[in-house]
Amino acid sequence: MTAVAAASIRPMQSRPIRTVAVIMAMRAEARPLLDEIRANERELPETAGPLPFQWYDARVGGLNAVVAVNGADRRHGVDGIGTQAAALNAYVTMLHRRPDLVISAGTAGGWADHGTQIGDVFVSRDRVVFHDRRIQLPGFDQYGVGSYPVVDASHLARSLRLKQGIVTTGNSLDESHDDRQAIAASGASVKDMEAASIAWVAELLGVPMLAIKAITDLVDHPTATAEQFVANLDHASRRLCDTLVQVLEFCEDRTIADLAHDRSSGAK
Ligand code: SAH
Repeated sequence: MTAVAAASIRPMQSRPIRTVAVIMAMRAEARPLLDEIRANERELPETAGPLPFQWYDARVGGLNAVVAVNGADRRHGVDGIGTQAAALNAYVTMLHRRPDLVISAGTAGGWADHGTQIGDVFVSRDRVVFHDRRIQLPGFDQYGVGSYPVVDASHLARSLRLKQGIVTTGNSLDESHDDRQAIAASGASVKDMEAASIAWVAELLGVPMLAIKAITDLVDHPTATAEQFVANLDHASRRLCDTLVQVLEFCEDRTIADLAHDRSSGAK
């Protein structure tokens, strides 16, 4: 068993990226990518216990890609979306597969007010936060928001012409009045149900993390979010797949630091 002490995994700014773990919640979001990179399913280690997650391996150029899908919830049959499954999947995947970079990939909501359109793909910028952990006690209020750092991927975003934004996570698909206020305060422009919990685990284990999110719905559109989501899931998952392949190709022969700066421009 590859037991790894958290402290033994160091931030890997200058190490070449060789293995990337892509954590995804829904099977429908993952399917186009798994087909495109011809990924092979691989069993989880027995020591991990009877977990519902599905692991897939592929080579993309010289890079090892590990796609870890939350899989179906045993009790309810639907995909294990939300923060619990994401954290557990992220933990077991990082512990056993030792990626140099972990990506929270999936669909998300955006805002027309920010110039966002259905199918836009975002790269996380700066930090990921929670918008529904409301704890009005000193210290715990900020703990609730989380604010976990993400890798500076501004060079990656520019090169692939992707938008960048702060990603905010909560356990509801809709947006309550209180959520709206928290999101306005954080300045987030991408709303999902997994990224912040994956970022928390990544920070604990010292693994560089970023999020890639394709927009399925506009939170400030009059049509209900769930209705938009169902109508746009296929289109957004396709865009997500195309982008993820480009991101994996971009990572080959690069370090984490190279995602922020163009080496050839002489910038450091
Ligand atoms: N009701 C859907 C279930 C998934 S929706 C269905 O019919 O299949 C939520 C998933 O998409 C989550 O994994 C979440 O990360 C993402 N998502 C898409 N739009 C979102 C939004 N507006 N708010 C929060 N999460 C969103």
